[in-house]
Amino acid sequence: MVITEQKPFEKLIASLKAYSKIFLIGCGECATTCKTGGEPEIAQLKAKLEQAGKIVVGSCIPQAPCVAAQLKTELAKNISALRQAEAILVMACGLGTQSVKDNDRLHLAVLPGCNTLFGAVVDSQGNFYEKCSMCADCVLDITAGICPITLCPKGLLNGPCGGMDKGKCEVDKERDCAWVLIYKELEKSKKMETLKEIQPAKDAKKTVKPRKLILAK
Ligand code: SF4
Ligand code: SF4
Repeated sequence: MVITEQKPFEKLIASLKAYSKIFLIGCGECATTCKTGGEPEIAQLKAKLEQAGKIVVGSCIPQAPCVAAQLKTELAKNISALRQAEAILVMACGLGTQSVKDNDRLHLAVLPGCNTLFGAVVDSQGNFYEKCSMCADCVLDITAGICPITLCPKGLLNGPCGGMDKGKCEVDKERDCAWVLIYKELEKSKKMETLKEIQPAKDAKKTVKPRKLILAK
């Protein structure tokens, strides 16, 4: 899940300064779960924009605006409203916003309504936790399922560092050192020997951006 927060309303108004007719696009997946771009948020934003003197010519919530096929269907259904718009405000992550820009055949101004924060798992209470930094070379098999790239602020592959103190992280004393957690977990499952091997530095070529995966022929 991609975690987003809504931009402060003053920032939205500033970015919409040159436009008065706005079309809103939300997201039925991540932004709905984060309460940034679901039905209630789009309705609230519409009311606030209208109070601020903007004309909201329409809105839609594609299931996943980052998926071109789903987005295009919604854009086609709303083409009359879109023809009246000067700008599209996207209440979704940066992927959704860029997908709208790529698929908007009217070439309107496309603006982000949210800040994109991180990829996360969601617990049963609906809280979000960053667990993976998408490093393209997963080491969870040798770190007892605990990600050092994400949980260690230095992203160390052979920790802990010299700053670890009584199990706590030197960068943030309130949190446990990721590598102490990894040691404890490996000790429990009697797999400490996996740490005898020094892990080589990651191959930076795997994370050169932008990355892509072409499956369609
Ligand atoms: S090692 Fe961590 S950052 Fe890399 S893929 Fe695995 S979970 Fe993600
Ligand atoms: S104390 Fe542990 S978690 Fe903190 S930076 Fe050092 S190795 Fe990483």
